[in-house]
Amino acid sequence: MTAERIYMDHSGTTPIDPAVLEAMMPYLTKNYANPSSLYTEAREVRTAMDGARQQVADALNAQPGNIIFTSGGTESDNLGIMGSAFNQKEKNGHIITTSTEHPAVTRTIEFLGSHGFDTTFLPVNEFGQVELDVLADAIRHDTRLISICYGNNEIGTIQDMKEIIRMAHERDVLVHTDAVQAIAKIPIDVKDLGIDLLSLSGHKIYGPKGIGALYVRDGLKIKPIQHGGGHENKLRSGTENVPGVIGLGKAMEMGKAGLTTEIPRVKAMRDRLLKGLLESQEETYLNGHPEKRLPHNAHVRFSYIEGEALLLNLDMMGIAAATGSACSSKSLKASHVLLAIGLTPEQAHGSLRLTLGKNNTDEEIDRVLEAVPTIVKKLRAMSPLGHGGK
Ligand SMILES: *Cc1c(COP(=O)(O)O)cnc(C)c1O
Repeated sequence: MTAERIYMDHSGTTPIDPAVLEAMMPYLTKNYANPSSLYTEAREVRTAMDGARQQVADALNAQPGNIIFTSGGTESDNLGIMGSAFNQKEKNGHIITTSTEHPAVTRTIEFLGSHGFDTTFLPVNEFGQVELDVLADAIRHDTRLISICYGNNEIGTIQDMKEIIRMAHERDVLVHTDAVQAIAKIPIDVKDLGIDLLSLSGHKIYGPKGIGALYVRDGLKIKPIQHGGGHENKLRSGTENVPGVIGLGKAMEMGKAGLTTEIPRVKAMRDRLLKGLLESQEETYLNGHPEKRLPHNAHVRFSYIEGEALLLNLDMMGIAAATGSACSSKSLKASHVLLAIGLTPEQAHGSLRLTLGKNNTDEEIDRVLEAVPTIVKKLRAMSPLGHGGK
């Protein structure tokens, strides 16, 4: 019997929605004009790009002038963090982040740390949340920027951004948030939150790869990190990825609508999956926060087994999942996020991340709920780590 393969790695990437592809197609074919040119065809492309910028802005409760298109989440993080760091009047201030960020943030801040900036990597609690009093204590007179991921890409923990931003602004500190995973999963209103800088990416929300955006609050000046012809309000030079931009606009519009239609269904499936996995056998635990977590993220750990072995067995049974995060899964080092929430390397290695999407079905949840415990029992029976298959 062969069954359809099951995709449960939507935090790694998502398929392009057919409606997004349809919106992009003309700009991959007949509407190829360079939007910087002056003839009719070019002006039409420019107008379409303006529409996409409006769609992105609308989804965030921002204005089109706040949106800079980039090549993705990684570049948005680099531009938001370096662009604001390099714009400070006094040189070499202090930057605060956490020990659970995506590498696009961690590596960028480490780079600034090796170029004269002071950096602080805050610890998190057992659920992966930044404690507000720990953050308050870390803010110094020369702190310029705080960068904190809105919803964690591994364990799905959602931070209390509203309080973090309030606390930062009381002390004149800018806040950047990597919202790549949170966009189109939870409502985000940049005005209400008072966010200064926010990163998002197309391919995590059923848009294409290689496109993203940085939101920059009104009146906030940042420096470009890529120099050239002065595109994107002089902040991101390079001929625009027009099909990507059009696709991102459509994906953001659909993502916002999906918050009230698809997301409750995805969350219900996730809740059933998580409950089923946690009850399937002893010594099975949840990673991350029980409530303050992204609605599509299930992250569990099983004692006595290796996540890699579980993953390969799931793959053979037609299920695509992840151990830690997609970025670190090729290395055998334990995930920095799982170590930061207090797990031992052994505990971290026994973890499994299943991230659901709008195309998943209840039947697929049933299949995963049958497959995972079967494989875990088998692996435990052969485990040199103990247990013996009880
Ligand atoms: C995927 C991801 C990124 C990187 O986005 P790309 O568009 O792939 O460069 C950054 N941050 C988080 C939290 C992510 O999940």
